[in-house]
Amino acid sequence: GKMSVGNSETGLAVVVGAGPVGCLAALALAKEGWKVALYEGRSAQRSVNLAISSRGLAAIYAVDPPLMERIIHDAIPMKGRMLHTTDGKTESQLYDRNGQCINSIDRGLLNEFLLQEAVDFPTIDVYFRHKLVTANFDARTLTFFSEEKNQNVDICFDLCMGTDGSYSNVRRQMMRVTRMDYQQEYIPHEYVELKIPAGTDETGQPSFLLDPNHLHIWPRHSFMLIALPNKDKTFTATLFAPTCVLEPIDTTDKAAAWFSEYFPDALRLIGEKKLLNDFEKNPRGSLISIKAMPYHYKDRCIILGDAAHSMVPFYGQGLNCGLEDVRVLINIMRSEGAIHPRKRATGEDVDEPLERAFKRYSETRHEDLVAIRDLAMNNYVEMRHSVTTPSYIFRKTVDNLFAALTAPYVPFSSLAPRLAREDGGFPIYAAKGWLALYTMVTFRPDISYATAKKKVERQSTIITGLGFVSAGVVGITVCLAGVRMILGLRK
Ligand code: FAD
Repeated sequence: GKMSVGNSETGLAVVVGAGPVGCLAALALAKEGWKVALYEGRSAQRSVNLAISSRGLAAIYAVDPPLMERIIHDAIPMKGRMLHTTDGKTESQLYDRNGQCINSIDRGLLNEFLLQEAVDFPTIDVYFRHKLVTANFDARTLTFFSEEKNQNVDICFDLCMGTDGSYSNVRRQMMRVTRMDYQQEYIPHEYVELKIPAGTDETGQPSFLLDPNHLHIWPRHSFMLIALPNKDKTFTATLFAPTCVLEPIDTTDKAAAWFSEYFPDALRLIGEKKLLNDFEKNPRGSLISIKAMPYHYKDRCIILGDAAHSMVPFYGQGLNCGLEDVRVLINIMRSEGAIHPRKRATGEDVDEPLERAFKRYSETRHEDLVAIRDLAMNNYVEMRHSVTTPSYIFRKTVDNLFAALTAPYVPFSSLAPRLAREDGGFPIYAAKGWLALYTMVTFRPDISYATAKKKVERQSTIITGLGFVSAGVVGITVCLAGVRMILGLRK
């Protein structure tokens, strides 16, 4: 890598962490005229697949429309959940009444797309194997450990973006200088990844062993298995279970018995030997949920993505939300006149428009980030348990019926360009009519997470009300019938 200069004619933005959010942030700033240095601690990363939906895609579209097209091209659309019962029955539940899909994509591939775009961008310099060690925000310097040089290097910056994930060091450095409220919570569940291999079709070509256009779920109340399709016709399966369930399964025999009791069909698909080996050897991941506030320090540092709001993965929104952070922040920076990098005059310490923009971001984005973290936590129970209950199915039916009667269909193709606009595309049809929560969160990036959550709480009150009214009607009918009977008997 070359030495970074910093504080030249244009402002230097240093982005720490080249995950998907960091890469998108780097591209967005570079396109607005910033000189960007993107620092990444690792050299390569593990591949897992995840579901990207309208929010994440709209955010990428706002920065780079052709890139979004390429990403969609390499993803596999999933139109619904496929539930697998213990006795091997399956049931498809569509995600959206208008047929909209979420997309399964290899996380490594998605990161690679975004990173390559950043590497190719003339005003972005990317430095691998540079780990942030410490920051002096008041002096506007960051210290990285360079593996290549085997020593620390100091970098001057105008603007620092922390996109260094759940265990963010930028966040930790910021906590030393600002009064940040911070909370982290581990849930009792861990996750282990397993792989469902490809089968072979009649012509000897690899083929999917399960329907590729569904996200497969084996809900077993306190734990569950899910599987998402890959381009190579395999599926990546993830087992989520509490440590207290996993720990006692400490021998191959116990594991074989456990899988054949709860996931007999998955055991057959993966193959006993492979499954037991993966189950034993693959690393167990823990799941953390993080809250922080504020997200910025003065005019010079802001955290985005998992660094600011790690959440449990059960709504499939972690990354979508992180990418949306970039779109929302850039729109706020534009509207505060803070988007263009400018050279501060000698003696001028603070860039006021930038400070205003960051403050406004912290204040306005917070309720959405809290909302989605809470929704993700609620969905933790929904996915492994509620999806199988009659009341869930009833609610889904009512939602679909009311939505069909009242809510206009707003396709992604009309939403994405509007959200990319300078003013952030203030809602035109936002939240009109009756909308299912899943639809709002997943397919309606024009409706903020907090709005979606509030709206659904109102809708629930109405349903409960309707329940009382209908119970009342039934009650009165029964009473009248009783009165009639008594009167009839008297006659
Ligand atoms: P990260 O991807 O964590 O990237 C941070 C980067 O910063 C890394 O490359 C790291 O090496 C680098 N870094 C860290 N520290 C330093 C340092 N000190 N110096 C320099 N570099 C540093 N989200 C969805 O939207 N849909 C899903 O279906 C979904 N499924 C998930 C399933 C599981 C099991 C899990 C755990 C998460 C899932 N997520 C999903 C969430 C998603 O993976 C994250 O939200 C997303 O990866 C966050 O991106 P990021 O760029 O903010 O952080």
